[in-house]
Parts: sequence; C-alpha cells; structure tokens
Amino acid sequence: MTGGTLPFDEVWVYEIPMRTRFRGLTTRQGVVVRAGDRWGEFCPFLEYDDEESQSWLDATIEACSGSWPAPVRETVPVNCIIPAVDPAQAHHLTRSSECRTAKVKVGSHPASLNEDLARVEAVRDALGPTGALRIDVNGAWDVTEAVRNIGLLDRSAGGLQYVEQPCQTIDELASVRRRVDVRIAADESIRRAADPLRVSLAGAADVAVVKCAPLGGVRRALEIIEQTGLPCVVSSALETSIGLVSELFLAAALPELDFACGLDTLALFEGDLTTAEGAIRPRAGVLRVPDRPPAPDPGLLARYRVADPVQEKHWLSRLSRLGAGSATVKP
Ligand SMILES: [Mg+2]
Repeated sequence: MTGGTLPFDEVWVYEIPMRTRFRGLTTRQGVVVRAGDRWGEFCPFLEYDDEESQSWLDATIEACSGSWPAPVRETVPVNCIIPAVDPAQAHHLTRSSECRTAKVKVGSHPASLNEDLARVEAVRDALGPTGALRIDVNGAWDVTEAVRNIGLLDRSAGGLQYVEQPCQTIDELASVRRRVDVRIAADESIRRAADPLRVSLAGAADVAVVKCAPLGGVRRALEIIEQTGLPCVVSSALETSIGLVSELFLAAALPELDFACGLDTLALFEGDLTTAEGAIRPRAGVLRVPDRPPAPDPGLLARYRVADPVQEKHWLSRLSRLGAGSATVKP
C-alpha cells in the first residue's frame, strides 16, 4: 500500500487479536507507517473523533522524523498487570512476571470487594514486603465507596503505592484524595493535552499516568509533564512494538522517574509486528532502551494486515482526513 497524499512511503492497517479482553477490546487495530527508514504507529481508539485523533497523528509524525530527545537512562522498570482473576492465578502471574511492581485491577463488578481483597493479598504474598503494589479502579467507584474500599484494600495489600482512577471525574478524585492517605493517580482523566494541568490544578492527583500518543508525541508530553509538576508513570496506549517504543523513549527521557511504568502491554497481544529481537518486552521486569526504534517484520505485516477491506478503508480515510493538512515528514 502507499500513502497517497500523505507524507508516508508505506501504510499498513493491522488487526491483532488480544489474549484477554482489555478495555472492551478483543482485537487491536491501528496503522503503521514508514517515512524513509523510520516507522511510526497511529492507533487512536475507534470511538475517538478526528479532533481527538490529531494528537495521535502528531506523535506518529514525530516518530517518523526521528527527533526524540536523547534518553537519560538505559533501562525502565515496568509493572505487571494483574487482571480480575482468582487469587491463585494472581499469585502465579505476579511471580512469573518477575516484576517488582504489580498493578492489580479491582472494582470489575459492583460486588467485587471481597474478591479484590483476596487478590491484592495474594499479589502481596507473591511480591514479598519490598515489592510495590498499586491498584487500578478504572473509575468504577463513587467517592464514598472509594474512601471505604481504599482503606480496606490498603490494609489487605500491606500498603498500596497508589490508587489509579478510583472515580470518574476530576472533582471526585480531588474529594477522595482529601480523605485518604494513599496516593491518587489520574489515568482516564488524562486523555488530551490540557488534562494533566487540569488534574494538577484541581489537586486531584499525586501521580499522572501519561501516554505520549494522546499528548502529541514525546517532546510535547515532556513539556506538559514539566508544567504539571507531578511525578509521572508512562503507560502504553496499547500499541504494537512500533508505537510502544515511543512511550519507552518518553520514560527514558524524563528527568525523574520515581515509579515503574505501565509498558508491559505486549503481553496482552497474541502477536506483534516486529520479530522477538526488536520487541519491546521486559526481561526480569525491566525494559532496555534500544539504540534504534524497531522496524516491522514484512512477514508479520502481511500476517496481521486487517482482513476486512471496509475496516482498512476506514483507517485509511481517517488518516487521510487528518493528514491532508499536516506537515510533511522529514526523515
Ligand atoms: Mg488505568
């Protein structure tokens, strides 16, 4: 395929099955593009409109221009993700990940508290007393539930590092934060460039979960992070290795990195677009920053090319609508 009017030499629409349903998705779709000898990924979620997707394209174009700042560290620690599974499985997943930080999903249904308590207890047992344990609520609780549940889970976990997005709104986060001793992290509240500052001005969080794709690229994300003054956890926007490496370069360029990052997400995918050698996968809970971003493997591009021509057309026209007025890429 060629990019037509877009400033790209190659454009591939992919679809990769997910191992477990995540964010309501059973497959992940997106686009990888080549400009000269550099690759980028464009994968705003399907429900995002063009306006919201523009910053994702800005990040793609930045990746293709090769203008990321130099890393200040060679490795980035990551957390394992423990989905809503039973305690034995949670214990096994934590142990086998070899990560020193675990993020446990809680609040997956209205009566989940007892299951959540048992899950965090199992994860603490697997991590040992020195590991860091955080929970992610994905906005499932109201303020009263959050205050009560955080207290209980903090005890059960033998101390929580932070609670990610206990409630949906910024006002609710601020209200919970005033009433609990555990740090609050904002994730879903940060989807656009203006959000991190709103979160920090409202006193709604102690930690910001950031992804460079929705913030318009590595450089833009670094500027925004500096403005907030909050410690950050760099997280994946569920990219393949082609896009994930930009999140890794963001984590590697942050002046301070106090927490393990949420970049062990290839584990959620059945496949990837790079060979194992270039894949952004941790060893013993740590990602090594590569000298050069990986390129896709031609065989894997062909294998995961989206099968449905309607879907392919959808992505190409989405890219075309956004790209029509964009700056040309200078690889
Ligand atoms: Mg989250």
